[in-house]
Amino acid sequence: MRFLDLHCDTVTECRSRGLSLENNAMHLDYARGSRFDQWVQTFAVWIPDTLRGADAWQYFEDNYDFFSRFCDQSALPVVRSSDALHQALSDGGRAAVLAVEGGAVLGGEISRLYDLYDRGVRLMTLTWNGENELAFGCQSQGGRLKLFGRQVVSAMEKLRMIVDVSHLDRAGFYDVLEMTERPVLASHSTSASVLEKTRADSTDKMFSIRRALDDRQILALRSHGGLIGLNFCGSFLGDPGDDGVQAALRHAAHIVELGGEEMLSIGSDFDGCTMHADLAGIDKMPALYEAFLQNGFGRALCEKIFFENGLHFFKNML
Ligand SMILES: [Zn+2]
Repeated sequence: MRFLDLHCDTVTECRSRGLSLENNAMHLDYARGSRFDQWVQTFAVWIPDTLRGADAWQYFEDNYDFFSRFCDQSALPVVRSSDALHQALSDGGRAAVLAVEGGAVLGGEISRLYDLYDRGVRLMTLTWNGENELAFGCQSQGGRLKLFGRQVVSAMEKLRMIVDVSHLDRAGFYDVLEMTERPVLASHSTSASVLEKTRADSTDKMFSIRRALDDRQILALRSHGGLIGLNFCGSFLGDPGDDGVQAALRHAAHIVELGGEEMLSIGSDFDGCTMHADLAGIDKMPALYEAFLQNGFGRALCEKIFFENGLHFFKNML
């Protein structure tokens, strides 16, 4: 099986807990990922909303050093271009893409974006849940992209860095679409309209819906050539007692119904949240793939969702 994942928080989680990226009991490690015939994994350095300015940058650097040491030791190629991705897959069948989750990493300085680029970062999620110097996250008061955010997005386009709109407030989302020519990514999101139908009312539900993409956003992303990675976070898929695989299938089916055959991918959020047991780990992916097959997705579409759509996107964008 081939597997491509657009988002995991394994780096920051492993480092903060003093665990190994090679082997651990969390959702993802190198040993399990290496079992796939081909594996492309996006590793995000998550910037907590409690960190700003120089502290946010230092936090990135510490995690970057931790991750780089591992990649050197294990000869995991962190790809910086489409050619490098192609080469890595034909050489060893695996590749890592380095991302940052939270534009707070820049501390309000555009020069930091070039520092990130030099370190191999090719994808940045503009916000986490709160507000930062760029924009408003889905748990903040909300609002449009800020002037600094516009400068960053436009510099990212020129650099060929991928703009990730997961976590972003809806007003900011449309600003990003309006000002970009290149496709953008929602690396780890679910469908708001599926959540509205399937979950009992609660504060948690309200947050999950704001964190998800509504149908209008999904259609807008689609016409912009964008990509959505399906998030496996338990509360973003459905009620806690629900079956994770069935919930994931509902979200995937809805996105496909909206014409998303070419835009649906996986953005697991491994090691970034609590998941249903049947989705909680990269080793569960073969069973999930089988469940997609058994539920009418067809082999060609499964290959697109679990690998090809993401690969195509990276090959165009990197
Ligand atoms: Zn996230």
